[in-house]
Amino acid sequence: MTTTVSAYAAPAANAPLERTTVPRRAVGAHDVLIEIKYAGICHSDIHQARDGWGEGIFPMVPGHEIAGIVTEVGSGVTKHVVGDRVGVGCFVDSCRTCEYCERGLEQYCAGGGTSTYNALDQHGEPTYGGYSTHIVVDENYALRIPEGISLDVAAPLLCAGITLYSPLAHWQAGPGKKVAIVGLGGLGHMGVKIAHALGAEVTVLSQSLKKQEDARRLGADHYYATSDPATFETLAGTFDLVISTVSAPLDFDAYLSLVKTDGALVNVGAPEEPVKVSLFSLIGGRKTLAGSMIGGIAETQEMLDFCAAHGLGSEIEVIPADRINEAYERVIASDVRYRFVIDASTI
Ligand code: NAP
Ligand code: ZN
Ligand code: ZN
Repeated sequence: MTTTVSAYAAPAANAPLERTTVPRRAVGAHDVLIEIKYAGICHSDIHQARDGWGEGIFPMVPGHEIAGIVTEVGSGVTKHVVGDRVGVGCFVDSCRTCEYCERGLEQYCAGGGTSTYNALDQHGEPTYGGYSTHIVVDENYALRIPEGISLDVAAPLLCAGITLYSPLAHWQAGPGKKVAIVGLGGLGHMGVKIAHALGAEVTVLSQSLKKQEDARRLGADHYYATSDPATFETLAGTFDLVISTVSAPLDFDAYLSLVKTDGALVNVGAPEEPVKVSLFSLIGGRKTLAGSMIGGIAETQEMLDFCAAHGLGSEIEVIPADRINEAYERVIASDVRYRFVIDASTI
């Protein structure tokens, strides 16, 4: 039987989020019911709640950084039991048969996949995300949160953590590699922690010097302000890998100038407007300009286990749900250190 649960939703594009209720489907044979404990606020929630990417489905319950406890399992569930600590990230289903699903790259599912919110599920029903008290998901799309990480600091790993882990692993960040992380926000601070734990030499490129001390504490070896034009001269041709986490359009030619010959600039930020790039920025040094989106289920589990093994979690500010709108403004102003996490007991 469908149940009704409390949630925070944007009733329309750009409208402030407010308390409401949403339906959750009955727990099917392969489903788990999760009591949500914490939900991170990702900048993607803000882009979508304000319809910056277009085609938003309203009312919208954002939230794809979910950590909670399994409170019920379907008759056919084998991966989880009641009481398990679990997480849900950016998608809750995929076709399971395309070449990408078969390779564990469900995030690139050719059949489309089903986003955790702002999407229609396989029955045509809208999906509602983690700013809510409970969620029902197929057991295959719930991750195990290792004992070593508390649920509040684990929640942001489900998007921010995996979004940086995946390209760092794919482009082989590690000892002897120079990695730059552009933008020290929710994604960026996890990039610094993970790249450092992988053994890379890590540089933070931030708009100002305000976050310098934090960056060192998080594991950065070097820090530069991008507002200082000398930064681009000093660092020309330095990095094997530059990862941009910036939510607004950037001068990609300037950032490509920081990449070594045969190096890569990988963009994970999702600005609302297109950017212009001169192809001369690539051909002059056989450089790669690439994108990357979250990670697959197996890789997300690998990331959670890696974070537990290295004692990594997100740096968070826990807020009650009635401060979501204020938190959104602070994220937009780059005034977050470094992820807002909603205490779901206040929803
Ligand atoms: P965030 O916490 O707001 O961090 C973004 C950081 O970028 C800011 O803290 C700021 O860092 C920097 N920044 C912001 N505006 C800037 C500007 N105009 N010029 C230069 N730097 C600027 O956001 P987030 O949650 O990390 O998400 C970042 C972006 O990634 C968003 O667009 C989001 O939608 C996207 N995203 C993509 C994926 C994916 O799978 N590819 C997954 C999650 C999120 P400083 O203060 O240090 O400069
Ligand atoms: Zn996200
Ligand atoms: Zn697929």
